[in-house]
Amino acid sequence: MRAAFIDKVVSAIENKEIRAFYQPQYDANSGRLVSAEALVRWVKADGTVVSPDSFIPRLETSQDINILDWFMAEEACKTILELGDYAVPIGVNFSRWHVKEPDFARKLQSLLAAYGVPPKMLEVEITESALSNASFEEVEKWAYEVADIGINIAIDDFGSGFTSLQFVKDMPVTYLKIDKSFLRDNCQDDRGRGTLETVFYFAQRLGLKTIAEGVETMEQLKFMQSMDCNKIQGYLFSHPLKKEDFLVIAMMDEMPFKADDNEYVRRQGTLSSHSLLLKTIKKEYQLIIFGNLYKNSYYVMSEDLREGFNAYTAGVIDDMTDASIELCIPEDKKIYRDNLSREALIEAYNNGKSRVECTIRQRTEDGMIETYHTVIYLYPHTNQDDIVMVGLTKIVNSVKEKVLEGALISRSENSINTNKTCN
Ligand code: C2E
Ligand code: CA
Ligand code: CA
Repeated sequence: MRAAFIDKVVSAIENKEIRAFYQPQYDANSGRLVSAEALVRWVKADGTVVSPDSFIPRLETSQDINILDWFMAEEACKTILELGDYAVPIGVNFSRWHVKEPDFARKLQSLLAAYGVPPKMLEVEITESALSNASFEEVEKWAYEVADIGINIAIDDFGSGFTSLQFVKDMPVTYLKIDKSFLRDNCQDDRGRGTLETVFYFAQRLGLKTIAEGVETMEQLKFMQSMDCNKIQGYLFSHPLKKEDFLVIAMMDEMPFKADDNEYVRRQGTLSSHSLLLKTIKKEYQLIIFGNLYKNSYYVMSEDLREGFNAYTAGVIDDMTDASIELCIPEDKKIYRDNLSREALIEAYNNGKSRVECTIRQRTEDGMIETYHTVIYLYPHTNQDDIVMVGLTKIVNSVKEKVLEGALISRSENSINTNKTCN
């Protein structure tokens, strides 16, 4: 039975009944057509168009599907060539079998070379569930081989399965295609929105680009824009198109929508505005430390100080204080202990202070004296008997030690004056 079905498919390919349709993908901000996905259609002799759902699952039960996928990849290459100067990358769907296909990457490379298509123009779409069918090592090897020849990989239907985030983290993947089930109910469902926010946050943290598929309404588009999604694909802008129609659309270079760049900040959702805020704070303060004062523990949340700065990423506050005081110039050692040590902070908190500020100078190994300004915020711990500190430190200036020697005394008096606490 199976043999008979693949024979039918092969003759349908030969009769040009099986064809590649293309669905445009748009840049979520500029509205520009930036890429497309190749989707198979079976156009019967009487003109009826059969959707892949009625024949792909049957082919996917065996490696027969590979014949169809390679046909689609070749069609995509031809279309890219026909587009000439208007060419955009085209994503091709590859079934789970390809992960185990010997020489998959080399075959792709030969196909591209045969058509003279640059690797960046073809993208491999593989579903999250296809990846979970092989071992981590198998998938990793497969993905690196594909990525090494310069082809971008998109994980399709992301979020629909159980791929661990850890798994994606270690893969050379360029795009996450957010599963369209997330967009149901116009993204109104709180739990769905929460999950989506997490997925986008995760993608941003790992430097992955995102594609939203199945965008059907303006609400969905706006929500995706607020998540800083990179690309949009869906019926709102275009159904999958016959090749001829796609060529016309791609060459027109029209923008069906445009997000006004001036609106960028207003459009931002909590997620992207928070990450922008965090980026800004990190720029302003080169060292950010969180700590529990009673527990006497800290961790470095962000650090971008001079090279060779040896802050342990986590440790005991008292040890950090001793090490920092060690580096202070003699005039500032007491200032540090009186303001920034754990005892001083606990005392300040118990006196009703929520903010402590202090400037100190430290010697570096390369003969410089650096001035640091630190602001520490003190909060009650939400569920423990403890005080939480958030310390923000920035380098105010950096001077050669010799130049500074003469001015040390007057400066240290100055810095004492700037050290203050407040409520
Ligand atoms: P997929 O890869 O997740 O493709 C996206 C599907 O979403 C496509 O269905 C597309 O037409 C549909 N879609 C696009 N925009 C919207 C929208 O706004 N709303 C809704 N409700 N749907 C939208 P299609 O073309 O029927 O393909 C179904 C599936 O068949 C594909 O899902 C893919 O898994 C498979 N498929 C299609 N072509 C190929 C192929 O060449 N090779 C392989 N292995 N699988 C293919
Ligand atoms: Ca796909
Ligand atoms: Ca999909």
